[in-house]
Amino acid sequence: MSLLEIHDLRVRYRTESASIEAVAGVDLRLERGEVLGLAGESGCGKTTLALALPQLLPESASITGSITLDDQELVGLDEGLMQDVRWRRIAVVFQGAMNALNPVHTIGHQLREPIKLHEPDTPKEEATARAAELLDAVGITPDRAADHPHELSGGMRQRVMIAMALACRPDLVIADEPVTALDVMTQAQILNLLRDLKERFALSMLLISHDLSVLAETCDRVGIMYAGRLVEEANARTLFPGENLGEGPQHPYTKGLLQAFPNVRGERRFVDGMPGYPPDLAAPPLGCRFEPRCPVAIDRCRTDDPAVRSVGVDHIAACHLVGEEATR
Ligand code: SF4
Repeated sequence: MSLLEIHDLRVRYRTESASIEAVAGVDLRLERGEVLGLAGESGCGKTTLALALPQLLPESASITGSITLDDQELVGLDEGLMQDVRWRRIAVVFQGAMNALNPVHTIGHQLREPIKLHEPDTPKEEATARAAELLDAVGITPDRAADHPHELSGGMRQRVMIAMALACRPDLVIADEPVTALDVMTQAQILNLLRDLKERFALSMLLISHDLSVLAETCDRVGIMYAGRLVEEANARTLFPGENLGEGPQHPYTKGLLQAFPNVRGERRFVDGMPGYPPDLAAPPLGCRFEPRCPVAIDRCRTDDPAVRSVGVDHIAACHLVGEEATR
């Protein structure tokens, strides 16, 4: 059994004027020790999906479907039991570390907080020693535990966020755009750190990013989301150019995303943007949600919603033009 299994996950936000299905029937799994990346444009549902796991969504959100962590069902779990899941089983590294850290407490204090909360029998000395170990693990000298967040650089604050996520030795770490607000050099250092921690602690991680190069560097598998749907999922080495093993990206949206990113290792070429915008999720298209922007759409795409199909080894895509049915 996979560490995380998601079946037909749907997340709906209700506003006064509309009901929006931000995640519209996603199936996904994550194995132990694996880093699964989720990519897609802003508003595609990747962060909503990730935050549905520890139920950190606003009250206007409702969740249906199934999310199992080992054999524990998380959808519909009582809030009291859910508090025990957060930090101890699922921890989140949020984007924008300055906003996520409390400016009035030292980082040592903030590292001890989740330990105190979820392991209340831990003596203070042991919690302090663990906080020092965590800082050391993320490349910060333990004597900086007495510093406040404003005394640290942006990269160091993000390292502290990662250390906090590891404080209770969770089964799953969710990293939501962990390097977005950082400069390029610091991004590279944080990505190296995540790769290093994955090896040292056999971390299982769900990594959310709109930046495909971040996912190519860090992930074992990658899922591509569009308008609330998972439209493609494969081994990272299958999807990304320069390392293609197997059939390469199959869904027209994934191909468009990759075309929109420069590849420093590949041949020199112009970067193509993708025309158009994602659909209004309050009234999504009847057929394929990508149809209004798809350069290879056929008549059927306007009326039939494509099912997810196998297109290779451990590789799925949702498009009428790929997979078994397309070859019939
Ligand atoms: Fe394009 Fe049709 Fe495939 Fe959708 S189903 S991605 S519109 S070809």
